[in-house]
Amino acid sequence: MSDGRGHEAKAEEHTDDVLTVRGVRKTYEAEGVPVRALRGADLTMRRGEFVAVMGPSGCGKSTLLNLVAGLDSADEGEIVIDGEVVTGRTEDDLARMRRRHIGIVFQFFNLLEGMSVLENVALPAIVAGMKRKVAETRARDLLDLLGLSDKIKAAPGVLSGGQRQRLAIARALANQPTLVLADEPTGALDSEGGHEVMELFRRLHAGGQAILLVTHDAEVASAADRIAHMRDGKVVADAVDVTAQAQPPAPAGV
Ligand code: ADP
Repeated sequence: MSDGRGHEAKAEEHTDDVLTVRGVRKTYEAEGVPVRALRGADLTMRRGEFVAVMGPSGCGKSTLLNLVAGLDSADEGEIVIDGEVVTGRTEDDLARMRRRHIGIVFQFFNLLEGMSVLENVALPAIVAGMKRKVAETRARDLLDLLGLSDKIKAAPGVLSGGQRQRLAIARALANQPTLVLADEPTGALDSEGGHEVMELFRRLHAGGQAILLVTHDAEVASAADRIAHMRDGKVVADAVDVTAQAQPPAPAGV
């Protein structure tokens, strides 16, 4: 839009969005055969929103999350996080962007087993340039908030699955990320551990944290404000009202 008003409206919309994915394409090669993992994916998240991404295995969910995290680069399209275009950046730039904006939670925790619980949470902040003492104080506060304050000296190996994932979430929050990304965070947990972790995501969201979570579990997805359904490398349906998802379709002709 070329008039002044249209322009203003667009600028406002932009600052409200924490994530914009526009026409993103990614093709991998597996044994010489191209695999089109993303075929023009679009997704927008508003500040503080909690979005669950669902879809059949192989439809591109993890690829989308990895590209948003800057762990891999798009072939085409644009990804904007908190007003910063992250597509087309160098590896160093992406690492900086990740430290500033992104906290990642993986299915299998990715904890440093040789370090204590406290060190696992403090490390990302130290890597980002924070003084060790300050980072450890912040880590203690986070572990307290996440109900792990009595475990700070323990090795991650002695924790239950749910506690290990809570620790991974504390680590993801260490740098006060704009956006928390979670790839099947309950996938390796029993139902008790899964509930523990989802309760924590609900609390973080209630505190204003934006969360983008990939899951194949409808119960997990129901904690989100919105479900983005993916198929064949695209977001095909973006349901704003999660409860409306459960309604059967209206009969034809009504
Ligand atoms: P989902 O998370 O929905 O299961 P993925 O994003 O993991 O799907 O994968 C989408 C498609 O891309 C799949 O066909 C998968 O095999 C392929 N793929 C993903 N990563 C790679 C890779 N590094 N090399 C080759 N193919 C890949």
